[in-house]
Amino acid sequence: MRDNSWESKADEFSLYGFTDLPSVHERGTVVVTHGKGPYIYDTHGRQYLDANSGLWNMVAGFDHPGLIKAAQDQYARFPGYHAFFGRMSDQTVMLSEKLVEVSPFASGKVFYTNSGSEANDTMVKILWFLHGAEGKPQKRKILTRINSYHGVTAVSASMTGKPYNSVFGLPLPGFLHLGCPHYWRFGRPGETEEQFTARLAAELEATIIKEGADTIAGFFAEPVMGAGGVIPPSKGYFQAVAPILKKYGIPLIADEVICGFGRTGATWGCETYDFQPDAVISSKNLTAGYFPMGAVILGPDLANRVQAASEAVEEFPHGFTASGHPVGCAIALKAIDVILNEGLAENVNRLSGRMEAGLAQIAQNPNIGELRGVGYMWALEAVADRATKTPFDGKLSVSERIANTCTDMGLICRPLGQSIVLCPPFILTEAQMDEMFDKLDKALKKVFAEVA
Ligand SMILES: *Cc1c(COP(=O)(O)O)cnc(C)c1O
Repeated sequence: MRDNSWESKADEFSLYGFTDLPSVHERGTVVVTHGKGPYIYDTHGRQYLDANSGLWNMVAGFDHPGLIKAAQDQYARFPGYHAFFGRMSDQTVMLSEKLVEVSPFASGKVFYTNSGSEANDTMVKILWFLHGAEGKPQKRKILTRINSYHGVTAVSASMTGKPYNSVFGLPLPGFLHLGCPHYWRFGRPGETEEQFTARLAAELEATIIKEGADTIAGFFAEPVMGAGGVIPPSKGYFQAVAPILKKYGIPLIADEVICGFGRTGATWGCETYDFQPDAVISSKNLTAGYFPMGAVILGPDLANRVQAASEAVEEFPHGFTASGHPVGCAIALKAIDVILNEGLAENVNRLSGRMEAGLAQIAQNPNIGELRGVGYMWALEAVADRATKTPFDGKLSVSERIANTCTDMGLICRPLGQSIVLCPPFILTEAQMDEMFDKLDKALKKVFAEVA
Protein backbone atom coordinates (compact mmCIF):
# COMPACT_ATOMS: atom_id res chain seq x y z
CA MET A 1 0.00 0.00 0.00
CA ARG A 2 1.26 3.42 -0.93
CA ASP A 3 1.85 5.86 1.87
CA ASN A 4 3.70 9.10 1.54
CA SER A 5 7.07 7.83 2.74
CA TRP A 6 10.28 8.10 0.74
CA GLU A 7 10.57 4.32 0.94
CA SER A 8 7.22 3.53 -0.65
CA LYS A 9 7.64 6.22 -3.32
CA ALA A 10 11.02 4.74 -4.18
CA ASP A 11 9.40 1.33 -4.47
CA GLU A 12 6.50 2.54 -6.59
CA PHE A 13 8.31 4.62 -9.19
CA SER A 14 11.87 3.31 -9.50
CA LEU A 15 13.39 0.17 -10.92
CA TYR A 16 16.26 -1.10 -8.80
CA GLY A 17 19.59 -2.22 -10.25
CA PHE A 18 21.29 -5.31 -8.78
CA THR A 19 18.94 -5.33 -5.77
CA ASP A 20 17.53 -8.24 -3.78
CA LEU A 21 13.87 -7.22 -4.11
CA PRO A 22 12.34 -9.39 -1.34
CA SER A 23 14.90 -7.97 1.08
CA VAL A 24 14.35 -4.34 0.02
CA HIS A 25 10.55 -4.73 0.19
CA GLU A 26 10.91 -6.04 3.72
CA ARG A 27 13.54 -3.59 4.93
CA GLY A 28 12.71 -0.48 2.89
CA THR A 29 14.93 1.57 0.60
CA VAL A 30 17.67 3.64 2.20
CA VAL A 31 16.99 7.08 0.70
CA VAL A 32 20.15 9.13 0.94
CA THR A 33 20.14 12.91 1.10
CA HIS A 34 23.73 14.03 1.62
CA GLY A 35 27.18 13.08 2.76
CA LYS A 36 30.13 14.28 4.78
CA GLY A 37 33.60 12.82 4.35
CA PRO A 38 33.12 9.02 4.11
CA TYR A 39 29.64 9.19 5.74
CA ILE A 40 26.19 9.35 4.11
CA TYR A 41 22.88 10.38 5.72
CA ASP A 42 19.37 9.12 5.00
CA THR A 43 15.96 10.80 5.13
CA HIS A 44 15.64 9.75 8.80
CA GLY A 45 18.90 11.49 9.64
CA ARG A 46 20.72 8.19 10.20
CA GLN A 47 24.47 8.21 9.58
CA TYR A 48 26.32 5.43 7.75
CA LEU A 49 30.03 4.96 7.21
CA ASP A 50 30.12 4.02 3.51
CA ALA A 51 32.86 1.41 3.39
CA ASN A 52 31.94 0.86 -0.25
CA SER A 53 32.78 4.41 -1.43
CA GLY A 54 29.34 4.60 -3.08
CA LEU A 55 30.12 2.07 -5.80
CA TRP A 56 33.92 2.06 -5.37
CA ASN A 57 34.09 5.53 -6.87
CA MET A 58 33.54 8.23 -4.20
CA VAL A 59 37.16 7.94 -3.14
CA ALA A 60 37.49 11.58 -2.01
CA GLY A 61 34.36 11.36 0.13
CA PHE A 62 30.96 12.95 -0.38
CA ASP A 63 31.68 16.66 0.13
CA HIS A 64 35.14 17.43 -1.25
CA PRO A 65 35.25 21.23 -1.58
CA GLY A 66 37.87 21.25 -4.38
CA LEU A 67 35.86 18.89 -6.57
CA ILE A 68 32.63 20.78 -5.97
CA LYS A 69 34.35 24.06 -6.83
CA ALA A 70 35.88 22.60 -10.01
CA ALA A 71 32.36 21.58 -11.12
CA GLN A 72 30.79 24.92 -10.19
CA ASP A 73 33.53 26.93 -11.89
CA GLN A 74 33.29 24.91 -15.10
CA TYR A 75 29.48 25.10 -15.16
CA ALA A 76 29.80 28.88 -14.90
CA ARG A 77 32.44 29.00 -17.66
CA PHE A 78 31.09 26.51 -20.23
CA PRO A 79 28.46 24.00 -19.11
CA GLY A 80 28.45 21.47 -21.89
CA TYR A 81 29.91 20.46 -25.24
CA HIS A 82 30.76 17.43 -27.35
CA ALA A 83 33.90 16.11 -29.01
CA PHE A 84 32.62 15.49 -32.57
CA PHE A 85 33.47 16.98 -35.98
CA GLY A 86 36.89 18.26 -35.00
CA ARG A 87 35.66 20.30 -32.05
CA MET A 88 36.24 19.71 -28.34
CA SER A 89 36.47 21.78 -25.17
CA ASP A 90 39.72 23.11 -23.75
CA GLN A 91 39.12 20.97 -20.64
CA THR A 92 39.00 17.86 -22.83
CA VAL A 93 42.32 18.75 -24.44
CA MET A 94 43.91 19.28 -21.04
CA LEU A 95 42.52 16.08 -19.56
CA SER A 96 43.76 13.91 -22.44
CA GLU A 97 47.25 15.33 -22.07
CA LYS A 98 47.11 14.68 -18.32
CA LEU A 99 45.76 11.14 -18.73
CA VAL A 100 48.52 10.17 -21.15
CA GLU A 101 51.06 11.74 -18.80
CA VAL A 102 49.92 9.69 -15.78
CA SER A 103 49.14 6.56 -17.86
CA PRO A 104 51.44 3.53 -18.01
CA PHE A 105 52.39 4.68 -21.55
CA ALA A 106 55.05 7.04 -22.89
CA SER A 107 52.53 8.31 -25.45
CA GLY A 108 48.97 7.51 -26.42
CA LYS A 109 45.46 8.72 -27.20
CA VAL A 110 42.26 9.01 -25.15
CA PHE A 111 38.61 8.46 -26.06
CA TYR A 112 35.82 9.47 -23.65
CA THR A 113 32.57 7.77 -22.68
CA ASN A 114 29.95 8.25 -19.94
CA SER A 115 30.65 5.03 -18.06
CA GLY A 116 32.96 2.08 -17.64
CA SER A 117 30.62 -0.19 -19.59
CA GLU A 118 30.71 2.15 -22.56
CA ALA A 119 34.48 2.40 -22.31
CA ASN A 120 34.80 -1.40 -22.59
CA ASP A 121 32.21 -1.38 -25.38
CA THR A 122 34.20 1.33 -27.15
CA MET A 123 37.45 -0.60 -26.75
CA VAL A 124 35.87 -3.67 -28.34
CA LYS A 125 34.62 -1.54 -31.25
CA ILE A 126 38.09 0.01 -31.61
CA LEU A 127 39.63 -3.48 -31.85
CA TRP A 128 37.02 -4.64 -34.39
CA PHE A 129 37.54 -1.44 -36.38
CA LEU A 130 41.30 -1.77 -36.27
CA HIS A 131 41.53 -5.46 -37.16
CA GLY A 132 39.00 -4.95 -39.97
CA ALA A 133 41.01 -2.05 -41.40
CA GLU A 134 44.16 -4.17 -41.20
CA GLY A 135 42.59 -6.85 -43.38
CA LYS A 136 41.60 -9.21 -40.54
CA PRO A 137 37.80 -8.88 -40.31
CA GLN A 138 37.67 -12.35 -38.70
CA LYS A 139 39.72 -11.17 -35.71
CA ARG A 140 36.68 -10.46 -33.48
CA LYS A 141 36.51 -12.83 -30.51
CA ILE A 142 36.98 -11.35 -27.05
CA LEU A 143 38.69 -13.21 -24.22
CA THR A 144 37.88 -12.44 -20.57
CA ARG A 145 37.76 -14.53 -17.38
CA ILE A 146 35.08 -16.20 -15.28
CA ASN A 147 34.02 -13.87 -12.44
CA SER A 148 35.29 -10.79 -14.25
CA TYR A 149 33.08 -7.69 -14.29
CA HIS A 150 33.25 -5.37 -17.28
CA GLY A 151 29.83 -3.72 -17.23
CA VAL A 152 26.23 -4.06 -18.34
CA THR A 153 25.81 -2.96 -21.97
CA ALA A 154 25.19 -5.87 -24.36
CA VAL A 155 28.89 -6.11 -25.21
CA SER A 156 30.37 -5.41 -21.77
CA ALA A 157 27.83 -7.76 -20.14
CA SER A 158 28.96 -10.41 -22.63
CA MET A 159 32.51 -9.80 -21.43
CA THR A 160 31.43 -10.09 -17.78
CA GLY A 161 31.99 -13.64 -16.56
CA LYS A 162 28.98 -13.96 -14.26
CA PRO A 163 26.11 -16.43 -14.67
CA TYR A 164 23.37 -13.83 -14.06
CA ASN A 165 23.71 -12.53 -17.63
CA SER A 166 22.02 -15.68 -18.91
CA VAL A 167 18.66 -14.03 -18.06
CA PHE A 168 19.38 -11.72 -21.02
CA GLY A 169 20.45 -14.55 -23.31
CA LEU A 170 24.04 -13.33 -22.98
CA PRO A 171 26.93 -13.65 -23.67
CA LEU A 172 26.71 -12.87 -27.38
CA PRO A 173 28.57 -15.36 -29.59
CA GLY A 174 32.34 -14.85 -29.71
CA PHE A 175 32.83 -13.83 -26.05
CA LEU A 176 34.94 -16.53 -24.37
CA HIS A 177 35.54 -16.82 -20.62
CA LEU A 178 38.77 -18.35 -19.35
CA GLY A 179 39.53 -19.63 -15.85
CA CYS A 180 39.43 -17.31 -12.85
CA PRO A 181 42.86 -16.79 -11.19
CA HIS A 182 41.54 -17.40 -7.66
CA TYR A 183 43.90 -19.98 -6.20
CA TRP A 184 42.13 -20.44 -2.83
CA ARG A 185 38.86 -21.37 -4.54
CA PHE A 186 39.96 -22.99 -7.81
CA GLY A 187 43.37 -24.51 -7.03
CA ARG A 188 43.24 -28.31 -7.18
CA PRO A 189 44.19 -30.49 -4.21
CA GLY A 190 47.99 -30.69 -4.02
CA GLU A 191 48.46 -28.00 -6.68
CA THR A 192 50.88 -25.19 -5.76
CA GLU A 193 49.98 -21.59 -6.60
CA GLU A 194 52.72 -21.57 -9.28
CA GLN A 195 51.30 -24.74 -10.84
CA PHE A 196 47.81 -23.22 -10.72
CA THR A 197 49.04 -20.11 -12.57
CA ALA A 198 50.83 -22.30 -15.12
CA ARG A 199 47.61 -24.25 -15.68
CA LEU A 200 45.69 -21.03 -16.42
CA ALA A 201 48.42 -19.86 -18.80
CA ALA A 202 48.30 -23.24 -20.58
CA GLU A 203 44.50 -22.92 -20.85
CA LEU A 204 44.94 -19.51 -22.49
CA GLU A 205 47.44 -20.81 -25.01
CA ALA A 206 45.35 -23.90 -25.79
CA THR A 207 42.31 -21.67 -26.35
CA ILE A 208 44.23 -19.39 -28.71
CA ILE A 209 45.49 -22.39 -30.71
CA LYS A 210 42.05 -24.00 -30.81
CA GLU A 211 40.19 -20.83 -31.84
CA GLY A 212 42.99 -19.46 -34.02
CA ALA A 213 44.93 -16.31 -33.08
CA ASP A 214 43.53 -14.59 -36.16
CA THR A 215 39.98 -14.90 -34.73
CA ILE A 216 40.81 -13.26 -31.37
CA ALA A 217 40.54 -9.47 -31.12
CA GLY A 218 41.76 -8.94 -27.58
CA PHE A 219 42.09 -10.10 -23.98
CA PHE A 220 40.57 -7.95 -21.21
CA ALA A 221 41.42 -8.30 -17.52
CA GLU A 222 40.94 -6.38 -14.32
CA PRO A 223 44.28 -6.32 -12.45
CA VAL A 224 42.27 -7.25 -9.34
CA MET A 225 38.77 -8.55 -10.08
CA GLY A 226 36.45 -6.16 -8.28
CA ALA A 227 32.75 -6.95 -8.51
CA GLY A 228 33.64 -10.64 -8.95
CA GLY A 229 34.58 -10.62 -5.25
CA VAL A 230 37.92 -8.74 -4.90
CA ILE A 231 40.16 -11.41 -6.42
CA PRO A 232 43.84 -10.50 -6.77
CA PRO A 233 45.61 -12.51 -9.46
CA SER A 234 47.39 -15.70 -8.48
CA LYS A 235 51.16 -15.41 -8.12
CA GLY A 236 52.83 -14.61 -11.46
CA TYR A 237 49.52 -14.60 -13.37
CA PHE A 238 50.11 -11.55 -15.55
CA GLN A 239 53.79 -12.44 -16.07
CA ALA A 240 52.55 -15.80 -17.41
CA VAL A 241 49.72 -14.61 -19.68
CA ALA A 242 51.24 -11.40 -21.10
CA PRO A 243 54.02 -13.13 -23.14
CA ILE A 244 51.51 -15.62 -24.59
CA LEU A 245 49.23 -12.79 -25.73
CA LYS A 246 52.21 -10.97 -27.21
CA LYS A 247 53.42 -14.09 -29.03
CA TYR A 248 50.05 -14.45 -30.78
CA GLY A 249 49.50 -10.73 -31.47
CA ILE A 250 46.53 -10.34 -29.11
CA PRO A 251 46.23 -6.95 -27.37
CA LEU A 252 46.10 -7.02 -23.55
CA ILE A 253 43.60 -4.50 -22.19
CA ALA A 254 43.69 -3.64 -18.48
CA ASP A 255 40.21 -2.82 -17.18
CA GLU A 256 41.33 -0.37 -14.51
CA VAL A 257 37.85 0.99 -13.78
CA ILE A 258 38.21 0.01 -10.10
CA CYS A 259 41.98 -0.35 -9.69
CA GLY A 260 42.95 2.83 -11.54
CA PHE A 261 43.82 5.98 -9.62
CA GLY A 262 44.94 4.61 -6.34
CA ARG A 263 42.69 1.75 -5.23
CA THR A 264 45.60 -0.73 -5.09
CA GLY A 265 47.99 1.89 -3.66
CA ALA A 266 49.69 2.68 -7.00
CA THR A 267 48.22 4.87 -9.76
CA TRP A 268 47.36 1.73 -11.77
CA GLY A 269 46.71 -1.89 -10.86
CA CYS A 270 49.06 -2.92 -13.67
CA GLU A 271 51.84 -1.15 -11.76
CA THR A 272 50.99 -3.03 -8.57
CA TYR A 273 51.08 -6.33 -10.49
CA ASP A 274 53.95 -5.26 -12.75
CA PHE A 275 52.66 -5.81 -16.26
CA GLN A 276 52.42 -3.64 -19.37
CA PRO A 277 48.99 -3.50 -21.06
CA ASP A 278 48.33 -2.22 -24.59
CA ALA A 279 45.42 -0.06 -23.42
CA VAL A 280 43.75 0.96 -20.18
CA ILE A 281 40.04 1.37 -19.40
CA SER A 282 39.26 3.97 -16.73
CA SER A 283 36.09 5.21 -15.02
CA LYS A 284 34.75 5.32 -11.41
CA ASN A 285 37.74 6.99 -9.64
CA LEU A 286 38.49 9.04 -12.77
CA THR A 287 36.11 11.74 -11.50
CA ALA A 288 36.07 10.48 -7.90
CA GLY A 289 32.41 9.74 -8.66
CA TYR A 290 31.51 13.44 -9.12
CA PHE A 291 30.57 13.01 -12.81
CA PRO A 292 29.63 10.02 -14.98
CA MET A 293 32.64 9.49 -17.20
CA GLY A 294 34.83 6.78 -18.64
CA ALA A 295 37.95 6.80 -20.77
CA VAL A 296 39.78 4.45 -23.11
CA ILE A 297 43.50 5.19 -22.98
CA LEU A 298 45.36 3.61 -25.90
CA GLY A 299 49.09 2.99 -25.63
CA PRO A 300 51.37 4.05 -28.50
CA ASP A 301 51.03 0.95 -30.70
CA LEU A 302 47.21 0.84 -30.67
CA ALA A 303 46.97 4.65 -30.87
CA ASN A 304 49.11 4.71 -34.01
CA ARG A 305 47.25 1.84 -35.62
CA VAL A 306 43.81 3.33 -34.88
CA GLN A 307 45.00 6.65 -36.25
CA ALA A 308 46.16 4.97 -39.47
CA ALA A 309 42.91 2.99 -39.75
CA SER A 310 40.82 6.16 -39.19
CA GLU A 311 42.74 8.01 -41.87
CA ALA A 312 42.21 5.12 -44.28
CA VAL A 313 38.38 5.30 -43.89
CA GLU A 314 38.47 9.09 -43.29
CA GLU A 315 36.81 8.89 -39.86
CA PHE A 316 36.35 6.79 -36.73
CA PRO A 317 32.54 6.54 -36.73
CA HIS A 318 31.94 6.39 -33.00
CA GLY A 319 31.23 8.82 -30.13
CA PHE A 320 28.70 9.73 -27.45
CA THR A 321 26.90 13.06 -27.31
CA ALA A 322 28.54 13.79 -23.96
CA SER A 323 31.98 12.30 -24.77
CA GLY A 324 34.60 14.60 -23.27
CA HIS A 325 32.01 16.74 -21.48
CA PRO A 326 33.83 19.87 -20.27
CA VAL A 327 32.42 19.68 -16.73
CA GLY A 328 33.38 16.02 -16.45
CA CYS A 329 36.85 16.79 -17.77
CA ALA A 330 37.32 19.71 -15.36
CA ILE A 331 36.25 17.47 -12.47
CA ALA A 332 38.52 14.64 -13.64
CA LEU A 333 41.49 17.02 -13.85
CA LYS A 334 40.83 18.06 -10.26
CA ALA A 335 40.17 14.47 -9.11
CA ILE A 336 43.47 13.25 -10.54
CA ASP A 337 45.24 16.10 -8.78
CA VAL A 338 43.45 15.40 -5.50
CA ILE A 339 44.14 11.65 -5.62
CA LEU A 340 47.76 11.84 -6.75
CA ASN A 341 48.94 15.13 -5.23
CA GLU A 342 46.77 15.79 -2.18
CA GLY A 343 47.71 12.60 -0.36
CA LEU A 344 44.78 10.28 -1.16
CA ALA A 345 46.73 7.53 -2.92
CA GLU A 346 49.40 8.09 -0.28
CA ASN A 347 46.82 7.51 2.46
CA VAL A 348 45.90 4.18 0.87
CA ASN A 349 49.57 3.21 0.82
CA ARG A 350 50.15 4.34 4.37
CA LEU A 351 47.11 2.61 5.86
CA SER A 352 46.58 -0.49 3.70
CA GLY A 353 48.81 -2.54 6.03
CA ARG A 354 46.73 -1.37 8.98
CA MET A 355 43.55 -2.30 7.13
CA GLU A 356 44.89 -5.75 6.32
CA ALA A 357 46.01 -6.32 9.92
CA GLY A 358 42.64 -5.26 11.35
CA LEU A 359 40.73 -7.45 8.91
CA ALA A 360 43.10 -10.37 9.55
CA GLN A 361 42.17 -10.12 13.22
CA ILE A 362 38.46 -10.28 12.31
CA ALA A 363 39.16 -13.10 9.82
CA GLN A 364 40.24 -15.36 12.67
CA ASN A 365 36.55 -16.07 13.08
CA PRO A 366 36.21 -19.78 12.17
CA ASN A 367 33.46 -18.94 9.68
CA ILE A 368 35.78 -16.79 7.59
CA GLY A 369 37.55 -18.92 4.99
CA GLU A 370 39.68 -16.33 3.27
CA LEU A 371 40.74 -12.71 3.60
CA ARG A 372 42.01 -11.34 0.29
CA GLY A 373 42.77 -7.98 -1.24
CA VAL A 374 45.28 -5.18 -1.63
CA GLY A 375 45.37 -1.45 -0.94
CA TYR A 376 41.86 -0.30 0.00
CA MET A 377 39.97 -3.24 -1.56
CA TRP A 378 39.37 -6.32 0.56
CA ALA A 379 36.96 -9.23 0.86
CA LEU A 380 36.19 -11.66 3.66
CA GLU A 381 34.69 -14.91 2.39
CA ALA A 382 32.26 -16.68 4.71
CA VAL A 383 32.35 -20.49 4.92
CA ALA A 384 30.30 -23.04 6.81
CA ASP A 385 33.46 -25.13 7.21
CA ARG A 386 36.89 -23.59 6.99
CA ALA A 387 38.89 -26.80 6.47
CA THR A 388 36.84 -27.96 3.49
CA LYS A 389 36.04 -24.39 2.28
CA THR A 390 32.36 -25.44 2.15
CA PRO A 391 30.13 -22.43 1.58
CA PHE A 392 26.98 -21.78 3.58
CA ASP A 393 23.69 -22.95 2.08
CA GLY A 394 22.74 -20.23 -0.40
CA LYS A 395 19.24 -20.08 1.09
CA LEU A 396 20.70 -18.67 4.32
CA SER A 397 21.83 -15.52 2.40
CA VAL A 398 24.67 -15.18 4.89
CA SER A 399 26.53 -12.32 3.21
CA GLU A 400 23.30 -10.37 2.66
CA ARG A 401 22.44 -10.84 6.35
CA ILE A 402 25.88 -9.61 7.37
CA ALA A 403 25.56 -6.56 5.11
CA ASN A 404 22.03 -5.83 6.40
CA THR A 405 23.21 -6.15 10.00
CA CYS A 406 26.07 -3.76 9.24
CA THR A 407 23.60 -1.31 7.66
CA ASP A 408 21.50 -1.42 10.84
CA MET A 409 24.66 -0.56 12.79
CA GLY A 410 25.51 2.35 10.46
CA LEU A 411 28.10 0.68 8.23
CA ILE A 412 27.64 0.12 4.50
CA CYS A 413 29.46 -2.87 3.08
CA ARG A 414 28.61 -5.08 0.16
CA PRO A 415 27.68 -8.74 -0.05
CA LEU A 416 29.18 -10.43 -3.11
CA GLY A 417 28.49 -14.13 -3.40
CA GLN A 418 29.49 -15.43 0.03
CA SER A 419 31.92 -12.57 0.58
CA ILE A 420 31.73 -9.20 2.27
CA VAL A 421 33.53 -6.47 0.38
CA LEU A 422 35.18 -3.43 1.97
CA CYS A 423 36.45 -0.70 -0.32
CA PRO A 424 36.30 2.54 1.67
CA PRO A 425 37.06 6.04 0.40
CA PHE A 426 40.77 6.87 0.28
CA ILE A 427 40.24 9.62 2.87
CA LEU A 428 39.37 7.05 5.55
CA THR A 429 41.21 7.90 8.79
CA GLU A 430 42.50 5.50 11.45
CA ALA A 431 39.55 6.25 13.74
CA GLN A 432 37.04 5.67 10.92
CA MET A 433 38.82 2.43 10.05
CA ASP A 434 38.45 1.30 13.66
CA GLU A 435 34.74 2.11 13.52
CA MET A 436 34.51 -0.09 10.41
CA PHE A 437 36.37 -2.97 12.11
CA ASP A 438 34.25 -2.74 15.22
CA LYS A 439 30.89 -2.76 13.44
CA LEU A 440 31.91 -5.45 10.99
CA ASP A 441 33.21 -7.73 13.75
CA LYS A 442 29.97 -7.35 15.75
CA ALA A 443 27.82 -8.02 12.67
CA LEU A 444 29.80 -11.13 11.70
CA LYS A 445 29.58 -12.57 15.20
CA LYS A 446 25.85 -11.89 15.39
CA VAL A 447 25.04 -13.48 12.03
CA PHE A 448 27.34 -16.50 12.44
CA ALA A 449 25.78 -17.16 15.86
CA GLU A 450 22.37 -17.21 14.13
CA VAL A 451 23.29 -19.52 11.25
CA ALA A 452 26.00 -21.79 12.68
C1 LIG B 1 32.07 -0.75 -12.59
C2 LIG B 1 32.92 -1.43 -13.59
C3 LIG B 1 32.65 -1.34 -14.96
C4 LIG B 1 31.41 -0.69 -15.48
O1 LIG B 1 31.36 0.67 -15.21
P1 LIG B 1 29.92 1.43 -15.26
O2 LIG B 1 30.29 2.85 -15.09
O3 LIG B 1 29.10 0.88 -14.14
O4 LIG B 1 29.32 1.14 -16.58
C5 LIG B 1 33.55 -1.90 -15.84
N1 LIG B 1 34.65 -2.54 -15.41
C6 LIG B 1 34.93 -2.66 -14.10
C7 LIG B 1 36.18 -3.34 -13.68
C8 LIG B 1 34.06 -2.13 -13.14
O5 LIG B 1 34.31 -2.28 -11.86
